[in-house]
Order: sequence, then C-alpha cells, then structure tokens
Amino acid sequence: MHEYSIVQALINQCEDNANIHNATKVTKVVTKIGVLSGVEPHLLEVAFDTFKEGTICDSAELVMNIQQVVIYCKDCKSESILEELVMACPKCKSLHTNIIDGEDMYLMTLEME
Ligand SMILES: [Zn+2]
Repeated sequence: MHEYSIVQALINQCEDNANIHNATKVTKVVTKIGVLSGVEPHLLEVAFDTFKEGTICDSAELVMNIQQVVIYCKDCKSESILEELVMACPKCKSLHTNIIDGEDMYLMTLEME
C-alpha cells in the first residue's frame, strides 16, 4: 500500500529530526496533505498507528492538515483556492494557471521531548 511507504519515510524523518535535537520521544507529528497528493488520510492514520510501535513515534499524535489545491493565474496574477478540481482561474476563467499548492504531502512540525 502506498500509504505504508509514506509512513515509513515519515517515521524515518522523525527519527532523523529527533537525533539532531537529542530528543527521546516524538509527541506530535503535524503533516500537510495536499488533496492531489494521492494520500488517503484515513489510510495514512491506520498505517501510522501500525508502524509507529517501537519507534520514536510510539506515543505520537498524528495531525493531518488537508491542503486544498491552490492555483496561480498567469493572466490576472491572482492566487485562488480551487473549490472544484477544474484547473481554471475562478476569477477570470483563464486556463493559464499553475498549481502552487495541494499536490504534495509534507511534514510540517514535530513536537519532541
Ligand atoms: Zn485569472
């Protein structure tokens, strides 16, 4: 499952960060999940609970902030959050847009002890 490899990478990232800061425990993992990232939040949570056992994240809480798709319109130079997955500018209907957020999953912050 896609989410399992993501969680393993996430926990590795947590362990690296904890080592850098001499922390022995991660208490909170805050992530940002783009709606286009292909990550299913429920599956991610299940995978996290499965894989965290015995790792530095054993008692960590997973927080998932869902990131809507944000596009930049090259015609009217505005940024918009897309309500629907139509890649047109909601303001001027231009199709000359770039996606600037909502495509990836990121680790945002960690709380450690
Ligand atoms: Zn526009």
